[in-house]
Amino acid sequence: MRILVLNSGSSSLKYKLFDTKRGVALLSGHVDAIGLPRCNVTFTAGANKQTTTCAVKDHLAAVKLALQSLLDFTVIARLADIDAVGHRVVHGGEYYTGPTRVTKRVLATIKRLAEFAPLHNPPEIAGIKACMRALPSVPQVIVCDTAFHQTIPDHAFLYGIPYGLYKKYRIRKYGFHGTSHKYVAREAARMLGKEKSHEIITCHLGNGSSICAVKDGRSVDTSMGFSPLDGLIMGTRSGELDPEVVLYLIKKKHMDPDELSGYLNKQSGLKGISNLSSDVRDLKEAAAKGNAHARLALDMLAYRIAQYVGSYMTIMHGLDAIVFTAGIGENEPDIRRKVCGYLAFAGLTLDPAKNRRNERVITRPGSRIKALVIPTNEELEIAKETEGLLRERRQGRKKR
Ligand code: AMP
Repeated sequence: MRILVLNSGSSSLKYKLFDTKRGVALLSGHVDAIGLPRCNVTFTAGANKQTTTCAVKDHLAAVKLALQSLLDFTVIARLADIDAVGHRVVHGGEYYTGPTRVTKRVLATIKRLAEFAPLHNPPEIAGIKACMRALPSVPQVIVCDTAFHQTIPDHAFLYGIPYGLYKKYRIRKYGFHGTSHKYVAREAARMLGKEKSHEIITCHLGNGSSICAVKDGRSVDTSMGFSPLDGLIMGTRSGELDPEVVLYLIKKKHMDPDELSGYLNKQSGLKGISNLSSDVRDLKEAAAKGNAHARLALDMLAYRIAQYVGSYMTIMHGLDAIVFTAGIGENEPDIRRKVCGYLAFAGLTLDPAKNRRNERVITRPGSRIKALVIPTNEELEIAKETEGLLRERRQGRKKR
């Protein structure tokens, strides 16, 4: 099948056209600065890369540009060759546990959930509506970042606040990066030869980071919560925090909710601790030159990851493998070495040379717990899930 995958941001559109049979992207594109007079547009098809600058008024114009690029690069002969569009949606609340065909009702639900994800859901709706207009007879499917975590049990997803707040406002842990965790956990289970029964911890470590405990293919807990601010220390996000700190800051610095949100989401984390950068590469360089705050930020990151890993080993009653993915997870041997060092007591034996080379398996052959480096591919996962839904529906129709 030919599946177009869309990731719509407030002023950007990323897309890939997949040939799902071969599991490869035929073309990928990136439209930046939508709404501004000069947008950067990049298309990549194999070795062929083109970058242009033009004005792109809105998401509909961006989608039209994307579709035209598929024709111009002749990866499809006509728009009808696109079998479906899979849309990344960040927040699906408690409604969506898997890929879902877009209807008016689905659109209304995602719109309602924008209250929980004000930066993400609105541009995603704009992307879906643009595709519905540009490709009226092509099925549109959503795949939510929250969907994979809907298997987390209530004793893990509830907070210790009055139960009525959950019933009335749906305040609970939702978790994010679900598509990435699902993809790398399945890859890991395949590599281990333990597709059905396994205990795996996936560490998605990028600008935003989260950890997930995956037991037998299902998410049983994750570090992000009601919002993507919870859990690990991230590039600019604080992660887990005593709520009393927030109350204290409100009183002490007279901050309103928006200011405080900016402080915790954009001025905290590695950037806030180091007072230098949110990027691990910069921090490593500075730490090597003796910058103590850069060193501290990196130590805090590894420590917090190890804390979650330890807790998730306990709730799953064991651990087959820990998986590192995303920008930091795939490229930073020092962080992996530190995290794996914490797990030596439990039977993880790192192979330092393999770790330095970012190999797929970075533990020694006899290691009781394996450590794996698996590049994430959220877009391919969205394409596969979209295809799976279409096939199910087609088979269902045939049976009837
Ligand atoms: P992501 O959000 O997955 O794109 O990850 C971005 C983060 O990965 C950056 O902020 C860097 O801190 C980190 N990173 C470390 N090494 C690399 C690398 N070689 N390439 C890309 N990202 C890296």
